Amino acid sequence: MDLFEYQGKQYFARFGIPVSPGGTADTVDDAVAEADKAGYPVVVKAQVQVGGRGKAGGIKLAADADEVRTHAANILGMDIKGHVVRRLWVEHASDIAKEYYASFTLDRSAKLYLGMVSAKGGVEIETVADEDPDAIARVSINPAVGFSETQARELVDGAGIDEEAKAGVIGILLNLYRCYVEGDADLVEINPLILTPDGRVHALDAKVSLDDNAAFRHPEWDDFRDIDEFDQRERLARSKGLQYVGLDGTVGIIANGAGLAMSTCDVVNQVGGEPANFLDIGGGANAEVMANALEVINSDAKVKAIFINIFGGITRGEEVANGIVDALGRVTINAPIVIRLDGTNAEEGREILKAVTSDMFISRPTMLEAARTAVELAGAPAADPTAGADK
Ligand code: GDP
Ligand code: MN
Repeated sequence: MDLFEYQGKQYFARFGIPVSPGGTADTVDDAVAEADKAGYPVVVKAQVQVGGRGKAGGIKLAADADEVRTHAANILGMDIKGHVVRRLWVEHASDIAKEYYASFTLDRSAKLYLGMVSAKGGVEIETVADEDPDAIARVSINPAVGFSETQARELVDGAGIDEEAKAGVIGILLNLYRCYVEGDADLVEINPLILTPDGRVHALDAKVSLDDNAAFRHPEWDDFRDIDEFDQRERLARSKGLQYVGLDGTVGIIANGAGLAMSTCDVVNQVGGEPANFLDIGGGANAEVMANALEVINSDAKVKAIFINIFGGITRGEEVANGIVDALGRVTINAPIVIRLDGTNAEEGREILKAVTSDMFISRPTMLEAARTAVELAGAPAADPTAGADK
């Protein structure tokens, strides 16, 4: 599991690695509030899991609230190498005298850990490795023996770290190694690790990749997964191999085939509802897939009704119906389901569905009727908080 910078910094702080005070923000107003707390000047930073955010315009210094507002508005929603920025990290800006680099990672071929330090920080380490390989000091670490202060000193001397920064960098390296080992990471990287004009050394960026095999002994890692509700739904769907896109509405949608799933979203809109998602379960509709789809829809608290829209083709109506009945037995459903089953052997399928028909499971012969019923059951769309202030 890769962490976002702000999560990586939280992790670093646990191991005594100095980072700047700050907070996360998902809106422009929150960014200003966090900036006020952190104290100006601040740096507004896009939280995406990709390097080179600075060059892409995703990292901006702000001297006051107005500048925070401008930068936050620009950066939120920005696309950085295919990653859309949904969250910012706003921290008190540091004065930089020097930028260094430090990391620990696994050297698989040597079956050892690898520690690296460079006095050329702030640029991607791959670039330094290409252009000036001697600028990177390396040390191999035997996991059974550990990382010593002597090795830390060798790294710092080898990299040509400035005299006044040496003690600080060595202290951070020892803690960074603890973070790597005790924190069960595959990679910990600080770029840049800075020296301030007043002689302090601290981490301005954090790249941490956790070893998922160790998740069982880190219940606290669960906090890192809750990035936002959308990601959670999409992540669950992805883990189940479903084609899912999270939307904002209250009508959960399950359909077979991408085209039908899209038309289902359209018809829900057409009768005044809002789809909660796009979900294509593909050609077949067996119990396993249907149960997975229902589970994903269930995980979305906003869903007030579920619309299952299946057109039987090669998969015949009765197979689909049996799959649905079986799936209903496997998952607890929180919202009423409306089903439209059509296509090959639809009649036979509907006959099977009659056995499970209830207030919570309603069958409708056409797509339009099914959409109307689902939208009715979902009730009025959630009130727009910016509207109706006159009431
Ligand atoms: P990256 O481009 O994704 O690696 O993002 P970083 O967090 O490493 O930031 C990129 C660059 O922005 C750094 O190398 C710094 O030069 C600059 N930067 C980041 N934070 C600060 C800060 O607090 N003060 C100053 N002056 N520059 C900063
Ligand atoms: Mn960086």
